[in-house]
Amino acid sequence: MISDFNYLKPGTLKEALAMFAEHDDCKVICGGQSLLIIMRQGMIAPEYLLDIKHVKELDYIKFDKNDGLKIGATTTHRSIEKSDVVKKNYPALVAMENKLASIQVRNWGTIGGNLAHADPAGDPAPVLIALKADIKVGSAKGDRAMSLEDFFVDYFETALDKGELVLEVQVPLPEPKTGAAYQKFNLLESDMGVVAVAASVTLNGGGKCKDARIILGNAGPTPKRVKRAEELLVGKAYDEGLFAEAGKIASEDCEPVADIHASEEHRRHLLGVLTKRMLKQAWEQARG
Ligand SMILES: Cc1cc2nc3c(=O)[nH]c(=O)nc-3n(C[C@H](O)[C@H](O)[C@H](O)COP(=O)(O)OP(=O)(O)OC[C@H]3O[C@@H](n4cnc5c(N)ncnc54)[C@H](O)[C@@H]3O)c2cc1C
Repeated sequence: MISDFNYLKPGTLKEALAMFAEHDDCKVICGGQSLLIIMRQGMIAPEYLLDIKHVKELDYIKFDKNDGLKIGATTTHRSIEKSDVVKKNYPALVAMENKLASIQVRNWGTIGGNLAHADPAGDPAPVLIALKADIKVGSAKGDRAMSLEDFFVDYFETALDKGELVLEVQVPLPEPKTGAAYQKFNLLESDMGVVAVAASVTLNGGGKCKDARIILGNAGPTPKRVKRAEELLVGKAYDEGLFAEAGKIASEDCEPVADIHASEEHRRHLLGVLTKRMLKQAWEQARG
């Protein structure tokens, strides 16, 4: 049963930020795909709900070769999945969206809501961090940007300050000879992942690894970069033994917890296997 609340419906971003600053016990609602579940469970009972779903200024996908991709916070998962520029320049993002929940949820849930919810099993964050994304947030006092990696603080906790909204996700254009891949392991099709891995690989002119990122999903309180494995890859040539070694490191350096879906040990095993597979896929894509 959802407790009573006062409903605030701003028409513009300026109004939204002013209302958010004015009301103390206020929660933002956008698609409601995550928020309404915890409200229905009685986990939160805010006095005010600030509905930003119809703030059109935050609903956009923009792309240019210099600035890369910019996605407004109220853009739905489905719009990202269907975007031609995203398909062409960031195929890993489309592949991820394609497996996020059902079409119904993707039609309503938004990228800003997903990231602000900070569920460690959320799909977009690992891929976006692999693609070196930043996030722009803002309040009535002004805007600021940070790397998406720094945005996640703990289970369901972000670096958002009081009165701040997620405004935009910014993804640079990947360097030439870059590949990226993402896969989650789930028990039910289109459900949250038991674990997930995103990897990106950039090659130099000689075909050796210039840069790599490995990000684990649902393997700890926040999306987890496996820097020890990333460093192992830099300067090396394609070698499946190397990918297996990186997978072993990932399974050691993660912090998964056991729940009804999988034991900690099983999660570590899956993370090792997926890391190896995602590195191979990303590398092969980078080689073209
Ligand atoms: C059946 C089902 C299956 C799902 N499966 C998946 C899945 O496989 N993978 C996955 O990643 N997710 C999954 N989800 C979660 C869901 O898709 C996302 O979390 C959703 O995108 C959240 O967006 P929303 O707009 O609905 O956010 P809301 O539910 O409206 O809000 C979520 C949280 O973010 C805050 N918020 C919203 N927008 C902003 C903003 N712009 N600035 C600051 N705070 C904001 C809200 O206050 C709230 O705390 C599933 C959900 C359902 C119901």
